[in-house]
Amino acid sequence: MIDAGPYTGRFAPSPSGPLHSGSLLAAVASFVDARAAGGRWLVRIEDIDPPREMPGADRLILETLEQHALHWDGPVLYQGTRHGRYRAVLDDLLARGLAYRCACSRARLAGLGHVYDGHCRRHPPADDVPCAIRLQLPERIIHFEDRIRGPQQQALADGGDCIIHRKDGLFAYQLAVVVDDIDQGITDVVRGCDILESTARQVYLTGLLGGTVPRYAHIPLALGPDGQKLSKQNHAPALDNRQASRNLYLALATLGQQPPPCLVDETPQSVMEWAITHWDIAGIGGL
Ligand code: GLU
Ligand code: ZN
Repeated sequence: MIDAGPYTGRFAPSPSGPLHSGSLLAAVASFVDARAAGGRWLVRIEDIDPPREMPGADRLILETLEQHALHWDGPVLYQGTRHGRYRAVLDDLLARGLAYRCACSRARLAGLGHVYDGHCRRHPPADDVPCAIRLQLPERIIHFEDRIRGPQQQALADGGDCIIHRKDGLFAYQLAVVVDDIDQGITDVVRGCDILESTARQVYLTGLLGGTVPRYAHIPLALGPDGQKLSKQNHAPALDNRQASRNLYLALATLGQQPPPCLVDETPQSVMEWAITHWDIAGIGGL
């Protein structure tokens, strides 16, 4: 149970395909955590990367959430409607000298391996060349508390200056997620631990934009039978809405909530009511 103050949580799926049992874990954990705290729960569709999207996936995702009694508050926010706002934030960061244009070619970047060397920070490209925009990350240790994993510290500059706007004109997840979490007043982020390593950057960017850093809880990833992360990329099967109670039961069991097996015969609504009443984030563990 969250101790004090208002709570606003969110679930932010990318519409690259229908929900599978891995993404259901994040939906259930964020929903139940919000409701157990008497809080609001928002849904945001991260449609900022059209080449990786599947037409109609947003409708399928929303339908599946409804069928699983994961009812959200307010209108669904589509990131595709937010380009003007993201653009304004980029311009502000550039004007403040906190971000810079990078014209490096793919071949040059490939030669660097994983960490960008800051070349264009020292050698600004000409005005008319196509550029990505990078956030300048200072050498700094970022501390934050994860409600599941305890105190965290991450060296901010370790991955190199990150891209917040791509050369092909697409806004990067790192920018959009922070702007939207701030603008929607998100107090609590509950999501998969594959994003844990991006959290320092998001904490830092939140501060630059004058936002309040949310509380974080990173849940373990669901693994498929082959030990791989369940994801759309490796073809995790779509959830069967006709088995909603069973899907929810399995998600709660994976989240360490020890649901009684008789719940599979109840309605999805009843399963969720049980989950809200009995929610114990400390049960998640299993790292
Ligand atoms: N769209 C991301 C995902 O599906 C979630 C990002 C987030 O919760 O910050 O994994
Ligand atoms: Zn560069």
